Amino acid sequence: MLKINENRLLQNITELSLIGKDPEGGITRPAFSPPDMMAREWLIDRIQKAGLQCDVDGAGNIFATVIPADAAAADKPAVMCGSHIDTVPNGGALDGALGVLTGLEALQVIKEEKVALARPLKMVAFSDEEGRFGEMIGSRAFSGQLDPDHLTSLSDVHGVLLADAMRDSGYNINDVASAKASADAYEAFVELHIEQGPVLERKGISVGVVDAIVGLFKWQIDLYGQANHAGTTPMNMRRDAFYGGVKFADKVRDLVKEHGGADTVATIGKFNLYPGAPNVVPGHCRFFIEARDRNKDTLDHLKRVFKDHLKRCAEDEHLTYDVTVLEDMTPVQCDPQIMDVIESCAAEADVSSLRMFSGAAHDAQNMAALAKVGMIFVPSIGGISHNPSECTEDDDIVAGATVMANTLARLVS
Ligand SMILES: [Zn+2]
Repeated sequence: MLKINENRLLQNITELSLIGKDPEGGITRPAFSPPDMMAREWLIDRIQKAGLQCDVDGAGNIFATVIPADAAAADKPAVMCGSHIDTVPNGGALDGALGVLTGLEALQVIKEEKVALARPLKMVAFSDEEGRFGEMIGSRAFSGQLDPDHLTSLSDVHGVLLADAMRDSGYNINDVASAKASADAYEAFVELHIEQGPVLERKGISVGVVDAIVGLFKWQIDLYGQANHAGTTPMNMRRDAFYGGVKFADKVRDLVKEHGGADTVATIGKFNLYPGAPNVVPGHCRFFIEARDRNKDTLDHLKRVFKDHLKRCAEDEHLTYDVTVLEDMTPVQCDPQIMDVIESCAAEADVSSLRMFSGAAHDAQNMAALAKVGMIFVPSIGGISHNPSECTEDDDIVAGATVMANTLARLVS
């Protein structure tokens, strides 16, 4: 069993959490912002001081590598771990950062303990996982799932173009496509992440062995009727877009219950009316719905059910409509062998573990296009994340990092 350096790991977590501290609370380190650049510099410095090879690709992904002494082993497909160091606005210290720093710790221990490597071992910090520019740019570029042509149109919620943010950070948007990895360069990818949910803490278990990462679809739905005077338009002569939207929303929960699986979730998180005045019948209603499940067939079925329901709601209210697909991610099944390795490393380290699925999207999802993937979860206190109070007990961090280091050691041997 490899033993990690607890103090070094916890110290690194604290140091990184000080970069991008927001006066309003938490950490604000959006991709390609000045705080993100400071965090990148800090990480590169850490990697170099650890005596690991450090590289940065065209998408700004940062890599640390332990190269095998044996030249033939150095050419073998690599094992990689990692996550991201960007955050949401007023985010916590662990989402993403924990995967990068436990990965770095694992590489350091494996190097220090002179574990014989049968293939290269890498850690990566992917760019913009949190989607300042709407996509997981780093892992999607790396796994060849990004259309370079539409990158130039991407901007953040303040209208800052990705191209400008990258240029101001010393990167070039024209280099993003060059980040694409060759299809046979990676054997396995393992990501450690906070659970961002309450399951592990409630059950008192230290490590989650992820068996599947949910897929999702996210739609923008526009319903169009006729904006008109709220006083002079009789009730039976209205084409009120609000009622179409409300009729749709009212049945979503029942439709999920009837047509979804046990874990299916669907959410309408944003609902707007136009022109948006108290004395005008709304002529346009725009809302967003997303649904998630671990099973692709369930998601496909739900898409059909939602579309039929929408059609009926629009017809009933004499409305027209558009559906714009904003996101469509296929669920990913984790590799059974990697799950077994994680589980047996946990058992050997006397760490309790539980198989579970991930309800949140992660870089590992994109990496599934390139390599076998596995994920290790650690408990989130109160199930809270994307929040300044995001926290995990030190003991659980150490347990997760220990399982990670030993899993990687086994995968590269
Ligand atoms: Zn994350």
